[in-house]
Amino acid sequence: MHPAVDQLIASRSIDLDLLSTLLHSDSPQLRDALFAASRSETERVYGNEVFMRGLIEFSSYCRNDCLYCGLRRSHRELPRYRMTLEEILACCRLGYQFGMRTFVLQSGEDAWWTDERLCQVVASIRSEFADCAITLSVGERSRESYQRLFDSGANRYLLRHETADAAHYAQLHPSDMSFAHRIQCLHTLKEIGYQVGCGFMVGSPGQTDATLLQDLQFITSFRPHMVGIGPFVATQHTPFANEPNGEVELTLRLLAIIRLLHPTVLLPATTALGSLHPLGREQGIRAGANVVMPNLSPVENRKQYNIYDNKICLGDDVAHCRSCLERRIESVGRHLVVARGDYRHDTATPTATGNTPSDPTPNS
Ligand code: SAH
Repeated sequence: MHPAVDQLIASRSIDLDLLSTLLHSDSPQLRDALFAASRSETERVYGNEVFMRGLIEFSSYCRNDCLYCGLRRSHRELPRYRMTLEEILACCRLGYQFGMRTFVLQSGEDAWWTDERLCQVVASIRSEFADCAITLSVGERSRESYQRLFDSGANRYLLRHETADAAHYAQLHPSDMSFAHRIQCLHTLKEIGYQVGCGFMVGSPGQTDATLLQDLQFITSFRPHMVGIGPFVATQHTPFANEPNGEVELTLRLLAIIRLLHPTVLLPATTALGSLHPLGREQGIRAGANVVMPNLSPVENRKQYNIYDNKICLGDDVAHCRSCLERRIESVGRHLVVARGDYRHDTATPTATGNTPSDPTPNS
């Protein structure tokens, strides 16, 4: 054990001093204690199971111009694609065959996908795969739209908040994008009954320990069901092309801190983490992650869905990804399972106030 880690566990809260120590200390004892505590919390809530989410990147068109993202609309030379309903269903069938029971439909913010079209996709997946969870990650939409998609059968929604600091948000996005609106969307999604994921990039330009503290405090108060974090990857054709990449070590420590602040959260070892280090995802699992997201998109589309550069697994078929992930996860003593992998409530976990955490009932 280490006093800084003990303090985090005892209070289930964090301040700037504690965060700086946990992120930047050179002490191997602190690092070992942090990851050991985080692993044991993960195992207490989720055992040794790691869940798979099959990712389907169904449209690369985007009306937004986020400064970090390779799909930003200003990247006009990028060839864009939209998958058809049949192509999306084919991805689901392949994923199902290889044990996936959650499908994540992700895209740029593409106005072609009206509620009617998107609801048709969701309803078709829902009727063919009754035992699977459907996760959407299609950006900011109206309450009415979120409600219609939920009513069509979607269960979960990933919308990274990107940063919980309004001034930092304005450094990462053009002025036509609103921090307040993004946060409002997250609240709306939770009210409707989705299992909701927020998250942020580690090492995005302008990020400081103080902005990270705000991210962690947002997570503690919002209590999402999932948190997606991965290192920022500098990407060609974006204004941040020459910025330094985020650090793998910082990402691992933040995964552990998030696990200890919010033990029941579902935490992916992201592809971005695997892209910056050959064993990034294994290290992520060891640091407290319990989800992996193999790519189900057709190989010809993956290169075009270029959110960030140097993405791994661009040419690997699903069978290969599945066995590769299984081997990687077994190598760190965990087990890849065939399951929806819903959020688990854990009323035994004490909070800072001593109250029982009040999470919404998962929609299953
Ligand atoms: N349009 C959807 C999906 C966005 S892509 C939405 O708005 O939610 C999913 C995530 O990829 C983003 O939320 C962002 O956090 C991450 N991302 C984008 N560009 C990145 C980069 N250059 N490096 C690392 N992660 C990036």
